[in-house]
Amino acid sequence: NSLEPSRSDGEGFEGGQRIGVELLCVVRALLKKIKRRVLVGDKVLVGSIDWVDQRGMIENVFQRKSEILDPPVANVDHLLVLFSMEQPKLEPFSLTRFLVEAESTGIPLTLALNKSELVEEETLIAWKSRLRNWGYVPLFCSVESKKGLDTLQFTLREQTSVIVGPSGVGKSSLINALRSNQCGAAEDNWFDPILGSKWFEEQRVGEVSTRSGRGKHTTRHVSLLPLSGGGYLADTPGFNQPSLMKVTKQSLAQHFPEIQKMLKASEPAKCSFNDCLHLGERGCVVKGDWERYPYYLQLLDEIKIREEFQ
Ligand code: GDP
Ligand code: ZN
Repeated sequence: NSLEPSRSDGEGFEGGQRIGVELLCVVRALLKKIKRRVLVGDKVLVGSIDWVDQRGMIENVFQRKSEILDPPVANVDHLLVLFSMEQPKLEPFSLTRFLVEAESTGIPLTLALNKSELVEEETLIAWKSRLRNWGYVPLFCSVESKKGLDTLQFTLREQTSVIVGPSGVGKSSLINALRSNQCGAAEDNWFDPILGSKWFEEQRVGEVSTRSGRGKHTTRHVSLLPLSGGGYLADTPGFNQPSLMKVTKQSLAQHFPEIQKMLKASEPAKCSFNDCLHLGERGCVVKGDWERYPYYLQLLDEIKIREEFQ
């Protein structure tokens, strides 16, 4: 039997398959032997099912549509990058790291900026035009005042999204808000695919330590929350430092939309060197007078050092 747990509201059969049943599964030894990891979000073939005790064995893992490793989630359609305007204050270099990491997955992303009720309208307008120059259209929201949450609900529907961002920006709070708005009374729609058990508790909302303005964090496993629109939202507590492990010196420029825009604008002219890093090489068509250029240089240095030690 192949199972798609919680794709429906209740238990039943669909296309000859039993759906909406949770099973506590072990992974077949052979899969472990050939190092096939089972990730949250994987579609799996389950055998040896004991319907009474609700147990089974994962026999195989179906081909993944996408895969991210940090946090480890399979079949992700969409990334929600969440930052806050204040507490902690929106910090452009930290945001750039997250955006580069998100871009490097090749998965479409939405940038949402929470706690927008803490700043003046002019600040939002200024950030909006600044981010537009980076190549992004931010969605301002506030879990506190409920602003923008309907747009977010709409954006998250019918796909599997992963929420990422530094700690303290309101990820857990947002999930709770979406859960009470969207999932209504569907308390037992919560499940934790790793522990295989129902998870009735609310997301723990961390305190922001007043000194650093950063939140503290507790757990480090990934949970998938089924949304009423048929979508899923993976919460990723503890994964709040992008590793940039998949980004190379050569690929870094691909993750800056403004570089891509400059390259496109200069067509048919191209940088003279195929492996141009856009550092002022002879015949480079990318100008160094854009806002995030210093961040690009800093990340490039970081990646160079990592590559040297690999
Ligand atoms: P996480 O670490 O990203 O999961 O952040 P939490 O959800 O734990 O939230 C950190 C703190 O920010 C908590 O004290 C929340 O109550 C607070 N918070 C969340 N959203 C908002 C918001 O829109 N406005 C304000 N002022 N505080 C918020
Ligand atoms: Zn160049």
